[in-house]
Parts: sequence; C-alpha cells; structure tokens
Amino acid sequence: MSHEAKTNYIGGKWTAAQAGGTFKSVNPARTNEVIGVFARSHREDVEAAAAAAQAAYPAWRRLPAPARAAILSRAARLLEERKDAISRQMTREMGKVLTEARGDVQEAIDMAHYIAAFGRMPNGSLVPSERADIFCAAKRVPIGVVGLITPWNFPIAIPSWKMFPALLAGNTVVFKPAEDTPGLAVTFVETLIEAGIPTGVVNLVTGFGDEAGAAVVESGAIPVISFTGSTEVGRRIAARCGQLMKRVSCELGGKNAIVVMDDADIELAVKGALWSAFGTSGQRCTAASRLIVHRHVRSAFRDALADRTRALRLGDGLDPSTDVGPVINRRQLDRIHGYVDVGRAEGARLITGGAIVSDDPLGEGCYYSPTIFDEMRPAMRIAQEEIFGPVTGIIEADSLDGALRIANETGYGLSLSLYTADVRTAFRAMEELDAGIVYVNLPTSGAEIQLPFGGTKQTGNGHREAGWMAMDYCTEWKSIYVNYSSSADLVRAQIDTVEN
Ligand code: ADP
Repeated sequence: MSHEAKTNYIGGKWTAAQAGGTFKSVNPARTNEVIGVFARSHREDVEAAAAAAQAAYPAWRRLPAPARAAILSRAARLLEERKDAISRQMTREMGKVLTEARGDVQEAIDMAHYIAAFGRMPNGSLVPSERADIFCAAKRVPIGVVGLITPWNFPIAIPSWKMFPALLAGNTVVFKPAEDTPGLAVTFVETLIEAGIPTGVVNLVTGFGDEAGAAVVESGAIPVISFTGSTEVGRRIAARCGQLMKRVSCELGGKNAIVVMDDADIELAVKGALWSAFGTSGQRCTAASRLIVHRHVRSAFRDALADRTRALRLGDGLDPSTDVGPVINRRQLDRIHGYVDVGRAEGARLITGGAIVSDDPLGEGCYYSPTIFDEMRPAMRIAQEEIFGPVTGIIEADSLDGALRIANETGYGLSLSLYTADVRTAFRAMEELDAGIVYVNLPTSGAEIQLPFGGTKQTGNGHREAGWMAMDYCTEWKSIYVNYSSSADLVRAQIDTVEN
C-alpha cells in the first residue's frame, strides 16, 4: 500500500482522500504496531465514489446475471487461494484468533459460491392473468447504487453478505468499511478487482463514521443503505433514511441468551456457553451475555463454566495456543470495564475475570479477562444492554415458562438458544423464543450462510441477510403485463363487467 494512503478505490483508480487526510489502523494485540495508513474520506470523496457507481450502473445492470455471477465465482476461488494470508491479516488488524479469522474468510467464500448460483436461478415468477391473451410476470430488478456501511468484527464476511447479493442483482456499490479494519477492506476490494469486477462497479471509501459514513447516508446518488453496527448509530441512520425516503437495512445489536434446562447435557451446555460468551472475545452480535440456568443445575453449570473460563489462554490470535484474543481498541476496553463496574454496583456477583489485563506483554494490547457474573437479575443493565466484550452472567430460572419469559425480556431479538434432552421442551422453545435465530442444543453463534440472518425487535428493521432472501434488500419487484391478443378491444382489469 502506498505511503500516500491511496486507499480509496473510485472509478477504477486507487486515490487518496481529496482533502489529503489520513488515519492509522493498529494491531489491537500491540497497539504500537501500525498496520497501515488510510485515506480519511469526506463528503467529496463519497460523492465521487457515488458518481462512479452511477456511471457504471447501466452497463452492469444489463450484463447477463450469469456473467455477473462468474465474477463472484472467480472471487470465491481467489479468496480460497488467499485464505491463509487474509486470515493472518485479519488477526493482526482486529485481533480474533486465527481459526476464527479463517472462518470469517470461509463465510465470504461460501457466500460468493452461494450467491453466484443465483445467477442461473429463477428471478421472478410467471403469474396467470384474469384476462385472455395477457402475459403476466413479476421480476426482481436492481435499484441502483447501494451504500454499504460495515463493522470491524467480521471484516470480510459482513461485506460479502452485503456486497455479493447487491452485485449479483445488478446494483453497483459504494463501500465504507469500519475505521478499525480498513486494511481488510482494501484486500477485499483488490480481490474483486482481480476477479474482474468492471470499473466503477465497486467503489471503496475508507474513513470515519461521522464523516465518510454519514456522507454515504446523505448522498442523493445512493438510494439504498445496508448497515451493520451499533443500535445507537443504526437508529440514527434509519431515521435519516426515513426522511430521505431511502431503503435501509439495519442489522444491529443483540442481548442473546442460552437457556440451560435441568435435563440438559451440562457438559455440552458449558462448551456452548464458553464459545458463545468468549468466542471473538465476546464481540459477535450473536454473543451470549446471558445464561439462564435452571436452579437444579445452576451450581454444577456455574462451577464447570468458571473452571473452563479460568483456563482460557489470552494472547495474540496468531499464537496457536491462544483461546481468546484482544478486544478491538482501548475505547471498547474501557466501555467493557465500565459495564463490569455497573454489574458490581447492581449487585451481581463477579466469579471470575473483571479486569483489564495490564501485565506485560499483554498490557501493550487491549486484553480483557473473560468475565462471569453470577446472581444476575433480568432487569439489571448488564442483563439488558449489549456489552460487546468477554462478559456474561448467570440468571437463575425455576421453570421452562420462567426461563422463556426471561429470555424474551430484552429489547433485542437476534439469537436465543436452549439446551434440553426433552423434545417437547425443544419444540416449545422453537415456538416461544422471540428471535430471528433459535438454536436447540447449540451455541448462540454459528449461523450458516444459506439461512436468513437477522433479528426481531431492536436488532433490526425487518430485513434479513444471507439465505434465499439475501437479494430482498437491494432489489425492487417489477410487475409486467403484455397484451398479445389480435383483437382491437380494450380489455381492462379490475373493472366490473355487466353481462346481459
Ligand atoms: P462499533 O461501535 O461496533 O464500531 P458503530 O455503529 O459505531 O459500531 O460502527 C459501525 C459502522 O458504522 C462503522 O463503519 C462506522 O464507521 C459507521 N458509522 C458510525 N457512525 C456513523 C454515522 N453517524 N453515520 C454513518 N456511519 C457511521
């Protein structure tokens, strides 16, 4: 990458921000290690990117869908070839352990293959007409330029979830990645360029949310926004898009829970809770920060989970012996610790963790010790608000009904899980848990790309990513009527005809 920070890709050229500003991306495992210097973009850069995307749109839209799909298939192959290098780059830039980084890249590969297949799938339906000699069909059509605003926790997977369906449908893209992971966004776009994406179809603007991100939301040339990030920012973006009459798809926070019933396989539930709470250092929107445990098994579950948690090894995610990597940055480290203070003050009992790691060498990075509270109550802030760090808490329940009620009693509805050996309990959970994703005897994290991903309540605004509805957010439906009658009579629809 150039030292001039030419990290914006606009109309087929790598350029610096017009105002010349830059910012750094650092390794959260050692914050004095600079990953790179990037363009700090503003409105003029976003407008240039949007204009390039608009210019490229007519030709891209007209390209046959199988030809667009072929580029995604090539991108899948390139990502496969580079999986190891990109995964290492990911661990360095945002901290997740290498096996998880590999999973992140694999999701993008899977998504590219899956969406490419849509290039040869039906793209609408033929519908009967109520009139003779009239042909009726409904088909999906692209909308135009799609603005993608993405977070740092899945820096390759999430852009792929948003971008591949948009491209396959015939839209062009302006991509504003998180300021913590611009290097991976550059790599992602470089891969698409090599895969043969035409000039102007994908444009990248690196920079901050309130500068470049806000400009994507405001741009009159971008009619669709897809956002993944915090509820606070998502709420503001959705409100603004409402005023501007833009389509907006938001995938926001979660306050996910695992319910452990008294007939559950405790060993399995402990493994599931460990992964759900501390995988990606708790920085997944599907992370389980509430463990709702039947009182008959609470102490057995708690003690086993605490033992396993204390044995987790913190460290650089590139070290194969590391279980838990750093959190993304100092600001997040302080925010997590602030929540632990809130939990203590609310009367939850800290049983392990609860500290910023300050000893060398981890003190050079952003490490938080995996934390468990016991005696958490459903109304506490730590049981209601998303923490986005390696912090979880145990809430006691004394019945299935009580556990299901507690699980549903938050403002979010992304991922809920229940452990049981009883098929009737499992089916009650599938019916009653109010979330976009429900698991039985599985952790709250572990979505597969061929199923819809997203949540109810304040987790989103009714859209889903991935799955067979991945194309919904970035397409319109067009209904088509064709009269092929040889008669000159006007035949109207939806008009009462009086027969004599
Ligand atoms: P997090 O706290 O996880 O970083 P954010 O919601 O702040 O989550 O950020 C997610 C994405 O939204 C990032 O790409 C960020 O730059 C962008 N963003 C933040 N604030 C705004 C904003 N006001 N308008 C548009 N995008 C924003």
